[in-house]
Amino acid sequence: MKRHARWERAICFLFFAASACSGSGGIGAVSCGGSTSSPAAPPASTSQRVPIGQLPRIDMDALLAHVKALSSDEFEGRAPGTKGEELSVTYLADQFKKVGLKPGNTDGTYFQQVPLVGITPAPAPLVFKKGNRQQTLKWKDDVVAWTKHVAESASLENSELVFVGYGVVAPEFNWDDYKGVDLKGKTLVVLINDPPVPDPDKAGELDAKTFGGKAMTYYGRWTYKYEIGAQKGAAGVLIVHETEPAGYGFNVVQGKTGEQFDLVTPDKNMGRAAIEGWITLDQAKRLLQSAGRDFDALKKQAATRDFKPVALGVTASMTIKNTLRTIASRNVVAKLEGSDPKGMEEYVVYTAHWDHFGRTADGIFHGAEDDALGCAALVELGRAFTKLPAPPRRSILFLAVTAEEQGLLGSQYYSVTPIYPLAKTAADINLDSWNVHGRTRDLTLVGFGASALDDYTRDAAAEQGRVVHADAEPEKGFYYRSDHFNFAKQGVPALDPDGGVDYLGKPAEFSKQVRDEWTEHRYHTPRDVVMPDWDLSGVNEDLRVLFAVGYRVAQADSFPEWTAGNEFKAKRDAMLRK
Ligand SMILES: [Zn+2]
Repeated sequence: MKRHARWERAICFLFFAASACSGSGGIGAVSCGGSTSSPAAPPASTSQRVPIGQLPRIDMDALLAHVKALSSDEFEGRAPGTKGEELSVTYLADQFKKVGLKPGNTDGTYFQQVPLVGITPAPAPLVFKKGNRQQTLKWKDDVVAWTKHVAESASLENSELVFVGYGVVAPEFNWDDYKGVDLKGKTLVVLINDPPVPDPDKAGELDAKTFGGKAMTYYGRWTYKYEIGAQKGAAGVLIVHETEPAGYGFNVVQGKTGEQFDLVTPDKNMGRAAIEGWITLDQAKRLLQSAGRDFDALKKQAATRDFKPVALGVTASMTIKNTLRTIASRNVVAKLEGSDPKGMEEYVVYTAHWDHFGRTADGIFHGAEDDALGCAALVELGRAFTKLPAPPRRSILFLAVTAEEQGLLGSQYYSVTPIYPLAKTAADINLDSWNVHGRTRDLTLVGFGASALDDYTRDAAAEQGRVVHADAEPEKGFYYRSDHFNFAKQGVPALDPDGGVDYLGKPAEFSKQVRDEWTEHRYHTPRDVVMPDWDLSGVNEDLRVLFAVGYRVAQADSFPEWTAGNEFKAKRDAMLRK
């Protein structure tokens, strides 16, 4: 679950293809630039439209039984590579079969193998040198670093340090912090978050037209900084930690000094920078001072289009030794075949993650809300889809992924090694945030306005007399923190729904009370269990909306599109043009 995640990551490379809009989505042509977050109706074929009230019911008793099974002691907290994995993936495959869904993999099984590696770095110092002067950064206190290389060690050896500002290449905003400078073998020093571009018309505010204003775009995420650094051929990428733009303290970064999981790619992740890490603001200021530069002045320059990389005349050296272990994990995948001969080759995907943290010294992490509920919802949505008078035109994929809690790895694996082409994948709808406290007048859409899926959701919710709105903290970039994001990153429009906040028959402060109780006492603890006071009437309503959205996308004449200016749109357009 993404909400207030203690640590999350997403790894693979991001290529922003600059392109114009065109292409064919299969059933009917994909229209160009038409569908946005504007009030335009979604391109659903009206003749196919079934009112939300006429969709088959979702069996909430069966759903609760699945949650209880998956979050029971017997399942041991569902950690990848444990007995808990074996029980979880077998349970889900059995249930998918029972409700009448077919094996989702083309090899005739309900499984997709996901090779994982766990890498534990040994503590090591980072040393900056200029002439005979030396600045030594202490492991964990001053620097947190690791390598993604699946290798016994990785090093920086007198690698030249270059300050690259926010390290962003964003063609849609005419922004390139690198200006063609060759950075092969160099170590980049980079700022966190998007460049804060002031609004020319409103003093004290950020320009909403550039990097989303106050909201964080993917260019602001720490994972992006490492990915773009690798694309530039850098040997090292060091992010300067600042609490406010990061959204969390250095103590959160320090939680990243132990074992980290990753996918095993064919090149053993050698395409990544050898060393990735964070340094404290104090150490960054000292570094710039020794280079004869002022941190605040450079930071100010970095918020402009004219910024150019600044060579610091200082070198970095560090050697990290690793302990490695490999885990063969699995995604579970089931499908409902579409009814249209051509449409059946196209897919609407629902995702949830089956994994959680397993058993530790603190006890079993049951993960009832996070995300046994999502997996239960996959099964029961699947059953409801089989009860339609006829299957939708396109096929529906129900994908329960592994290792979300380890950095969205199962969904990353699917997104870069898809069973069915992403160009034939209409949308992903993610099920990983739940309101278990009753009905609400509203529904939250994280990353609201990103694609036409929001229009579908708004319309379906309206049929229940409900409204949709953005999440309260767009500056924290929650959209980039659960499995749908891996689909978005590869270009597939992806929906990230969250529960509502305006409860029927409850005082105004109720929402904050239940959310605080969850965040402070149960989220990512052994106490995330099925509670006696759960009221799933809100989950039922939310799921019916998401049922309608998936069904209507699967019936529509064309694929939903990203909103113009969205950072994932160019990639989708290029994919559909092929
Ligand atoms: Zn979680």
